[in-house]
Order: sequence, then C-alpha cells, then structure tokens
Amino acid sequence: VIKVMQRLCVFSVLLCSLVHAEKIPQIDWRMLEQTKPWEATEQWEDLSTVRINTSGVPSDAIVLFEHGALDKWQRAQWPIPADLAQTAATAALMEPDYVGDAAAWDVSKNFFQVKAGTGAIASKQAFGNIQLHIEWMAPKRKGKQGQHYSNSGVFLMGLYEVQILNSFDNPTYSNGQAASIYKQRAPSVNASREPNEWQSYDIVFTAPTFHPSKELNTPAYLTVIHNGVLVHNHVELKGPTLYIGESEYVYHAPKLPLILQDHGDPVRFRNIWLREF
Ligand code: MG
Repeated sequence: VIKVMQRLCVFSVLLCSLVHAEKIPQIDWRMLEQTKPWEATEQWEDLSTVRINTSGVPSDAIVLFEHGALDKWQRAQWPIPADLAQTAATAALMEPDYVGDAAAWDVSKNFFQVKAGTGAIASKQAFGNIQLHIEWMAPKRKGKQGQHYSNSGVFLMGLYEVQILNSFDNPTYSNGQAASIYKQRAPSVNASREPNEWQSYDIVFTAPTFHPSKELNTPAYLTVIHNGVLVHNHVELKGPTLYIGESEYVYHAPKLPLILQDHGDPVRFRNIWLREF
C-alpha cells in the first residue's frame, strides 16, 4: 500500500509541474514593440553623482579626519554618563552647536590617538542619521586584558556606543566586546583583527525621533559592518547605551556630536568620514 501511495505521489508531482509549465503565459515581444509597456515602470530622474577618491572617500562625505589635524574635533561638553539618571540629565544639557576647548589627543600625520585622562572628544558638527566610516587600531600591550585592553568607543550622538576594544584572544562579556552595541547587543560574530592591525567600522545609524511632548516617536537603529563583516543588521536600540542598568529613551536634540571615548587606553584612529541621510 505504501509503495502504491509513493508512486501516486511522484506521479501527481510530475503532473503538477507539467500543468504549471503549461500555465506560464507567453509574451509576444513583436506585438509589444508597438506600445513598449516596460517603459511605464522606468524612472529617469537625474541622480547627484558621487565620485570615490583613491582613499575610498565619497565626494559628498564630511571628512572628520584625513591627516594631520584634529580641527574638526573638540573636547566633549560633558563626561560620558554611566547610568540612566546621568544620561537623562546630560542629554537634556547637550548643545548641538556647543563650542569648547581644543581636543587634546595626540595627532600624528596619518592617525590620532587617545591621550589618557584628557577626556572624550566630540565632533564640532552635530549629526542625526549618518553613514559613518571609521578606522581604529588597538596597539599591542602586555598585561592588559578584558575591558582594559584598548577600550574606546564610537558614541553616535554622544549617547549610543559601538564598542571599541581589542577582542582578538581577549575574552570579556559578549555584549561589551568589539563591535557590540554596548550592553545591548553582542555582534553576531567576532570579526576582530589582531592588535597593531587597523580595523574598520562601517555604521549606519538612524537617530531616534521624539514627539513635541518629548515622548519617543521612533527608536534608534544600528547597522554595523566590522572589517567588512555584517555584525548588526538594523538593530533597534533600547535607548542610550549604559554602563549601569537597563536603558530607556531620554529626550535629546535631533542632532548631536559624534563622540570618541577616552577610556584611558591609547587607541588610534584614522580615515573618518560620514554621510548624512
Ligand atoms: Mg568603550
């Protein structure tokens, strides 16, 4: 009985595929040449042109560091907050057009480096939605481990951190390793290079929006590509990233500076550019 059933099944599958093959409508291309119906779904408006230079920088990008000078950066207005109460208070005080002291980090021709104890640096310009390219390097350091081996961070709007850390043979909590959305989401894989090697993040950040009542309208989203490997795809954030406690959204301006963290380690940066969208 089973064999008969099996044969019947095979026969019906074959029959079905034959019937379906016959049902694919034929197109009379010679007839259609009269009316060219494919043109109805073509779009012909001009796009603005973007050229890519030899360093891979698009011509419409805002370059925040190419070489030699930290003139697009300054000392951050406030220290990076640690918990939700500090974050809410800081976010309320952050000014998109703040003018502060010069960034005190060390600059050489092709990169700059965290100068421990001088504090975070902030872009002079404020941003909302951005596509960001940034390259960083964790110098090899003896005796360093966990969160103390080349910790820094890319803080979108100064509030939402994509972690920078040496995560090559350096275990720590997974949602705090390199390319994590700090304490909210571990990267899907560890794509870290060894210390002393340059690494890249390509980040797409969608800023949160707020109602006039200051209640959240739409959350923030992050897509992160680490060294060419997708590690976060359009991840919804719970709120600003926090060292202590669960996060929730706190109201802030629609544009705020990009901030790089001074966590006391000499992390290096180069080739930073972004495009607003
Ligand atoms: Mg960090």
